[in-house]
Order: sequence, then C-alpha cells, then structure tokens
Amino acid sequence: MATFPPSVTDAERDGLVHSIKDWSIGNGLAVRPPPGFIPAGTDPAGIAAINAPVTVFPSPFPRICFEQGKAVQTTYNELYASVSRDEDFLADMVKQVMDGDDFIQNLWQIHLKVKQEGYTQPLSLGLFRSDYMVHQDTSVSPPALQAKQVEFNTIAASFGGLSYYTSLLHKYLATTEYPLLDQPLAPGSLALPENSTIQGLAAGIEAAYRAYPVSALGHPKCVLFLVQGDERNVFDQRHLEYQVAKASPAIPLFRVAFSDILAHTSIADTPTRQLLYRFPRNPSKVFEVAVVYMRAGYGPGDYPDQRAWDARLHLERSAAIKCPTVLTQLAGTKKVQQVLATPRPLSAPSALSKFIRDNSPSTAELWKTFTNIYPMDRSEAGLEARRKALDPDLCQAYVLKPQREGGGNNTYRGAIPGFLKSVPEEHWGSFILMELITPPPVSNLILRNGKVEQGGVICELGIYGACLWNQATGELLHNEEAGHLLRTKGDQSEEGGVAAGFGCMDSCCLV
Ligand code: ADP
Ligand code: MG
Ligand code: MG
Repeated sequence: MATFPPSVTDAERDGLVHSIKDWSIGNGLAVRPPPGFIPAGTDPAGIAAINAPVTVFPSPFPRICFEQGKAVQTTYNELYASVSRDEDFLADMVKQVMDGDDFIQNLWQIHLKVKQEGYTQPLSLGLFRSDYMVHQDTSVSPPALQAKQVEFNTIAASFGGLSYYTSLLHKYLATTEYPLLDQPLAPGSLALPENSTIQGLAAGIEAAYRAYPVSALGHPKCVLFLVQGDERNVFDQRHLEYQVAKASPAIPLFRVAFSDILAHTSIADTPTRQLLYRFPRNPSKVFEVAVVYMRAGYGPGDYPDQRAWDARLHLERSAAIKCPTVLTQLAGTKKVQQVLATPRPLSAPSALSKFIRDNSPSTAELWKTFTNIYPMDRSEAGLEARRKALDPDLCQAYVLKPQREGGGNNTYRGAIPGFLKSVPEEHWGSFILMELITPPPVSNLILRNGKVEQGGVICELGIYGACLWNQATGELLHNEEAGHLLRTKGDQSEEGGVAAGFGCMDSCCLV
C-alpha cells in the first residue's frame, strides 16, 4: 500500500467529514450527546443523537494478528466457561483480592447466598470480548508481530453494534469517497474483512432463549436487556435488539434499568424461582424471563445502595439464564487473567491446564496471546512486582490495574509509585501489574464531535465470543466466534474506552 492514510487536502477532508456525518446518522452509528454538549434546556425531549467518534480511514492492522485473535476465540470461550464452573478456584481468586476490594467481596457474597439456597438454572450465557494489541517482537529478524491480550471481558462487553456499522461505513467510503481522492485508493484495494458482530451476539441470545424451557406457569418467554438509566451508548445496544427482532421476531425483548429490577420483576413462589417481568405500561401482560443480558451492574457505580445489591441477588437466585452469572463476572477479573497467564515451573501444571486440555494446539495458540502479568501480593513474584512498580525507572514499562471494568481505572507508568504509596499496603494484593504492550506506530484521522484530529494512533482489536454452557455438566451448547471491534485512541492517551471518551470506533484494513 502507498502511504496510508493518504494525505488529503482541506477540501477533501471536509468532503469525507460531510459523507461520514450523514452516513453515521443515516445508519445509527451514533451516541447520545455527552452532558453539556447541547446547551441545557434545548433538548427537553431527549431526541438528540450525535455521530459516534470514528476514524476517517480504516486503520491498517496486521492480518496475522487479526487471524490469531479470531482463531483462538472459541478456545477462550471454552476456557472462561470452564473457569466460571470452578468455584474453588474463583474462591481463591476472591480471597486474594478482597481485602482491598469490597465490590468483589459483595459479588462473592451473592454467589454464596444463592449457593446455599441452591441454583435453579444450570445454563449460563457468555457474550465475551477478548481485547488485543499488536506486539512487535524485535528480538527476531524481521520483527515478528503477535496479538497480545489486553484483557478478557465477561460482562457488558460493548460496541458490537457500533462496530458492525463502522465496518460498513468504511466499506461504503471505500467504494464512494476514497477512489475520488487526489491520492486515490482504488475500489477493492483495501482488505476490509466481513464483520458479523450483531448477528453473532444475537445468535447467542437466541440460543439461550431457545434452551430455556416453555413456561410451566403459562407465560410467554422474554429476554431482558438490563441497562444503565443514563446510558449514552444506547444505539450500540439497540442494534443488537433490532437484530434479535429481525432474526427471531417472535422473541419479546424489553429494556429495564438496573435500578428498576425490583419494581418491574418478581420471583415466582415455586421451587424453580422463575423470574417474572410485568410490562409496566400494561401490568396484565406478564412474561417469564428466559435470558437476562446485563449491560449494567459491572461496576460499583451501579450499586449505590443495598437495594441495588438486593436486585442483583434477586436476579442471581432466579431461574433466568444470566449473561453473565456472578461467577462468570468474577472469572473476568484481571486477577484471574494474571493467574491464567502465569507460567509455572516445567514440573508443575499451569493454572491454565486445570481448565482446558493442556498441550493441545489450540491451547498453545491461546498461550501465545498472553503477555507478562504479575501479582502484587506478598508472594516472591509479588514482592518482585512491587519492587518494579515502586522504582521510578522500571515502572515505566507497566500498567497497574485494579479489579474493575469500563475504563478509566488503571494507573500507568510514572504515576504508579505515587499511586501505590497512597493505597494502604495491605490492599496492594488487589491489583495486578501488567507489562505495557507497545504496538508499531499507525497514523490516522479521527472525527470526534465534528472536529478532525490527525496523528499517531494506537489500535486495540476486540474479538467477540458467544457461548452457552451447562454449569453443572460443562456441556457447551453454543460456542462461536462473533465478529470483531477495532477501537483506536490517540497515541498520547493512556485509556482507550470509547464510552469513557478517549477512544473512537475504527475498522480493520488488513495488511
Ligand atoms: P477495562 O476493563 O477498564 O477496559 P483494560 O485492561 O482494558 O481495562 O484497560 C483499559 C485500557 O488501558 C485499554 O483499553 C488499553 O488502552 C490500556 N491498556 C491496558 N492494558 C494495557 C497493556 N498491557 N498495554 C498497553 N495498554 C494497555
Ligand atoms: Mg474490561
Ligand atoms: Mg478494556
């Protein structure tokens, strides 16, 4: 490929922006405006939507890393289903971090309460996303490129909806706008892979819905999307709903705010404990909830009071198929990722081998995606990690992570020693220390809030997985790779979450 992205004149840039602005609203590549974006009081009906931030061109992404991530996804699904089933392992993980982490401890308490009463739903749904950055191994010649895992998300993994449309946007521009540039990109010259996120994720929800038995109480079954009340990324979620409605029009699907669970649902007074949803506008319409898909409840902000925790317990003890269960949510903690990625001496089995077949080619492929992650506890490895984290030079190669989701929670490089010193030492074990992945430089233009920013960017690939399994037997009823996401941030920004306001939507141009 010639220089990429092609340099564009001011007029060309304006033309591209114009085209992207219209296509995005025309196709729902949109978000609700951030607070303050629209002057107070000028949108009382809440009808405004704005373009999701996007790159003007698809970013070049190494095909080899893209294929590596895709190939390993069903093995990752299997691994995390298996981790979710291992209560003793998760108990140990929780024990290791709970001193500094009430949130994780509260989640664990919910599991213990439901366990005491007995779970009534053996099936569990995972709509996962494994995130990667490209690592350049310069110790070999030519430098080898590998996809290295940033993290694995087991709850509320977002952007599947917007990602599908971002891929379509760049395909549209590739046939309409890019060929007309002064430095044209010929139609068909860009390798833009198919992306079936919405179909793949919806198929997981549909599989769970079908696996749930016909209501013994005589109600129609339904799916609930559990959302945050003030969600800005609503169209991302809506695209998934619309896909379920398109592929399976007979499935009733409702959105319920996390804070409204106790008001709108009840648990049947039966040994099965069916979750019943009473349609607020017409309370005579009662549905039995087959699937609860959580796009809320992943962080402390959704649990402002005891009532919110009661609501989570209420869901967990119900017979609805949860996406995810508390156990699956806990399986997605950074602590679990650290333990899975920790190599053991040759003589001892790795933690990974507890969960998936050791020595199989697919396990070897999965292993290659790990990078170095260290505990911050009082073990030998933990003390070594603490030393590095506190050293003003050595810390530059690391990111320190707590057991949190949703972006904006990590501490980077030179900020680590000062941050650690502000945390009581007995809580350090609730963090992990991870080597920073430094991808090769890429340049692009980002359109955000109507303005174009140009410069070096860092891309993060996400591969989705949809998995339905039986917690009791381990049987996998559905195990599919479910499309991809490319998220891009300016190379000066530490965090990459689109919702957190730092990153933008992108799509892959395979190179
Ligand atoms: P969260 O669950 O909050 O999304 P992440 O582990 O994904 O937490 O970290 C947030 C962001 O921080 C990532 O999207 C990425 O931009 C950056 N990041 C995290 N880990 C690394 C790493 N090892 N190397 C480089 N960047 C990282
Ligand atoms: Mg995450
Ligand atoms: Mg992340």
